Amino acid sequence: MKSESTYHALLARGIDSATANHLIDSKISLNKLKTLSLDKLLRCGLNENQANLILKEERPPIPIETVKKLIFESRSICCICRDRNKPFIIHHIIDWEKSRDNSEKNLVVLCLNDHGETHSKHSLSQNLTPQLIKDSKTKWIKRVGELDSEAVSNLLVEGSRWDYINHARLIELANNLQIQLNKTKLFETLFSHKVLDHRGYLTQDFISKAKRKPYMYDFGFGLQLYEHHKELLESIIKRLQIVDLKSTWSKTQFTTWLKPGMFFAFQGASYFKKGKKLIGKEIRECYRQAKKIKLSFTINAWEATSCSAWVDSMSGHKSITAICFLRGLSKRNGILQVNTSCLCIGSYFKSFPSSRDQLNAIFSYPEEFGNDGMIDNN
Ligand SMILES: [Zn+2]
Repeated sequence: MKSESTYHALLARGIDSATANHLIDSKISLNKLKTLSLDKLLRCGLNENQANLILKEERPPIPIETVKKLIFESRSICCICRDRNKPFIIHHIIDWEKSRDNSEKNLVVLCLNDHGETHSKHSLSQNLTPQLIKDSKTKWIKRVGELDSEAVSNLLVEGSRWDYINHARLIELANNLQIQLNKTKLFETLFSHKVLDHRGYLTQDFISKAKRKPYMYDFGFGLQLYEHHKELLESIIKRLQIVDLKSTWSKTQFTTWLKPGMFFAFQGASYFKKGKKLIGKEIRECYRQAKKIKLSFTINAWEATSCSAWVDSMSGHKSITAICFLRGLSKRNGILQVNTSCLCIGSYFKSFPSSRDQLNAIFSYPEEFGNDGMIDNN
């Protein structure tokens, strides 16, 4: 997006978010700004300091990737007052003149008030020491991560259901997070019927019987087994760091917010393509393609949690909610390929509250929002 890159370029040069938005609204590009006189820049709404930043460029701009990372991690919110409604600026924790340091660790998102405090000489400003700013930044980034996880946890509303749970991944995560498999409400019932062994693993006997079924929950205690796995999955979701991508679907978010190995949640129109059917295995490919981003994963539909999940919810075009693990990103024919492994797929999550809704943050990519876009199966 043109306005998005202008926005980042202005922030990189020390312009605050409100002024940057004002310039973008007035359709003034950075290149145009550079050709204007000081007088004209002042008339565009810049103050003298900002005008000089543009005209003289005494300090190299902050790398754009660093700008994106800072505004993502902080959600464009000041780490000192955490007031989502205040415009912000990217501040050098140790002054550029002293540090010559444009790296992420020396930079922080501050509102204009708190930024003013760091540069003022009165007694209050002594509170905003570089160390305090660094500590506040660390705490806020951690809190943003928690809010993302809470937003995903808040997904778990009455009436929603999981259509697919990746069992190998479920067990692996439960073990990593030290969630006990044999402490769920229905463990004893499933243990006494030899579905689970004493540790909470599926018994070989159960697996060999279930493999003859079209989907693994298709037996007398299927519902109880689903409840057991659901309880484990939801404990995992509450404790896992999951990036909430529900309200965003843009290349910027995928390339700057995610790294391979991270979990993220998304929601939207997706397409399931049926593949080979083997014993205890039925491969289905799932795609979601919109805005030149193609997310894909394969699932074993034998792990569908119910008949309707197996027959209906995971075939053809469906609106899904899913939590995935990022394997990697690549580019092919101008399309960003998002290669993932799926932890779970759900339906009937009537609204997926995003942490950005909770924060009501002034977010910097309005044009990228709310896309539930077109699907291209090619
Ligand atoms: Zn502030």
